[in-house]
Amino acid sequence: MATVAVTTPDGAVHHVEAGTRALDVLKTAGVLNNQVLAAQVNDRVVDLGRPLTEDCRIAPVAADSPLGLEVIRHSTAHLMAQAVKRLFPEVQVTIGPVIENGFYYDFKKAEPFTPEDLERIEATMREITKADFKVAREELPRDQAIELFRQMGENYKVEIIAGIPEERVSLYRQGEFVDLCRGPHVPSTGRIKAFKLTSIAGAYWRGDARNEMLQRIYGTAWANAKDLEAYLKRIEEAKQRDHRRLGQQLDLFSLHPISPGSPFFHPKGAVIYNTLVQFVRSLYGRYGYTEVITPLIYKTELWKTSGHYDAFRDDMFLMALDEDEYGVKPMNCPGHCYLFATRKYSYRDLPVRFADFSRLHRFEPSGTLAGLTRVRSMAQDDAHIYCTPEQLDSELLKFVEMTREVYGVFGFERVEVTLQTRPEKFLGRIELWEAAEAALRRVLEQAGYAVSVLPGEGAFYGPKIGFDFRDVLERSWTLATVQIDCAMPERFGLKYVTADSSLATPVMLHRAVLGSLERFIAILLEHTAGNFPLWLAPVQARVLTLTERQEAYGRQVTERLIHAGLRTELDDRNEKLGFKIREAQLQKVPYILVVGDKEAENGTIAPRHRGETLPAVRIDALIAQLTAEAVPGSAA
Ligand SMILES: [Zn+2]
Ligand SMILES: [Zn+2]
Repeated sequence: MATVAVTTPDGAVHHVEAGTRALDVLKTAGVLNNQVLAAQVNDRVVDLGRPLTEDCRIAPVAADSPLGLEVIRHSTAHLMAQAVKRLFPEVQVTIGPVIENGFYYDFKKAEPFTPEDLERIEATMREITKADFKVAREELPRDQAIELFRQMGENYKVEIIAGIPEERVSLYRQGEFVDLCRGPHVPSTGRIKAFKLTSIAGAYWRGDARNEMLQRIYGTAWANAKDLEAYLKRIEEAKQRDHRRLGQQLDLFSLHPISPGSPFFHPKGAVIYNTLVQFVRSLYGRYGYTEVITPLIYKTELWKTSGHYDAFRDDMFLMALDEDEYGVKPMNCPGHCYLFATRKYSYRDLPVRFADFSRLHRFEPSGTLAGLTRVRSMAQDDAHIYCTPEQLDSELLKFVEMTREVYGVFGFERVEVTLQTRPEKFLGRIELWEAAEAALRRVLEQAGYAVSVLPGEGAFYGPKIGFDFRDVLERSWTLATVQIDCAMPERFGLKYVTADSSLATPVMLHRAVLGSLERFIAILLEHTAGNFPLWLAPVQARVLTLTERQEAYGRQVTERLIHAGLRTELDDRNEKLGFKIREAQLQKVPYILVVGDKEAENGTIAPRHRGETLPAVRIDALIAQLTAEAVPGSAA
């Protein structure tokens, strides 16, 4: 009888009969408990009931691990499909993949599902979990599987199976429900403990608008009720913090169909925008950047040279004028290459660092536009660096240093670094790509970062590193990036004079720290829930009078603060103080300054700072304190 050698996580090797189930080996090894719902065999997750037929390593997969959650979420998609078939037998099932935090399943159904349907489906799902059906894997020859689903009237499944190259396919059966699936799944429906159906949407079969419309149900599933509740709370919190909602509440920006995807920044939003630009600009002297201003509109020849015309044309605003085709720039780099070529640089002049806050326009599809995070009109804290190969490492390190400084000012502490390497479609020579990727690895190592590599995710013209910041809602955002360009300097024929008087091609870097200002503002709004640090707050202080008697004093205080450079408003309306305070708090004004008779008499103010009442202070002392706090990076 054949035996196989199975290595458990403790390093022990178990010699068991071939065909022994994963679950039995885990039991023998003493690592099976009621949290384990699948097994990892070598690098694959499989059902607990899967027979082991070869020598392998095995480990338990717990419900609350990332791999376990995937099994739960996919199993919950089957559970939902079973419930839908019970309630709506005429519906056809299609596919039900796992997505971040949950799953969806697409159904062929004439009418959309209603919110009431979702409740009934959820109730039926709970019944099915109570029944605790065994989830059994079967394998069938492909033709038999096709016949089985044809008889069930599941035409989409028939189409899917017909497209599978393998001769045998696997099915999973639970109670009366059977679905085509690779698995793995939980051992029985009772193992699904915590789920919620969250929304409904229309979706095209195979994501193609020429195909028929399907009805999609989204859901979320977790290892236990506590995790589910925490997640639903995070979702609710995210809704409260949605930058579109806060943008309206705080009167920062709006969007209008007259220019889709192009935000109107209201006066307060413009303060945030301009203050961010000023902040970045204030660092440029120290980091050796010079600001430039370049055209918005070019003949498309420019992007034919850069390579963007082929890769990016559909995302550009193009127009035919006179005999020529023109475009509105979607990025600054090609223009900066022209600027570099306007004079002759020697190695002594390098590095040259061109910074540009210019507005950029990208014709994003209308369906993808969302608030400030996906726009057609944007600006970046963009810059391009031209240097010699010898200067590359020190330029990259300088960028890392600047990123650290900027993230420090915003208090972004949870940062992960990614390296995005050569994609399938790329421009430039392989040697340049390899050297560039090596330089990025070297510098990140030197800077002490652990790096996760995203293979093939680089831009088409060069590899890239990203500094991903994790916000209070546990979402990860790439803000700062630097890319080494392996194509553009050669395509534009850029040259500099070397030490031995020959001509060489400079190395070009693209980099931004905040990224798009629009997107950065959205992220910061949601991260802070609109409680901007004092230096960025559009209104830093609001003076509230108690009665009409303090009108003159209130105005005097307001003017003094304004003269000291603090963005200050006066609320001398004839309203109750409590009402005025609540309103200022809703507007997230950091300092609320109350003046009554006593304050007017003593030349003082009674301040409140983010819900906390502070002792009365004299105007001079308050101005000194606020001016010190209104500096980027100050703790306030
Ligand atoms: Zn499945
Ligand atoms: Zn660029």
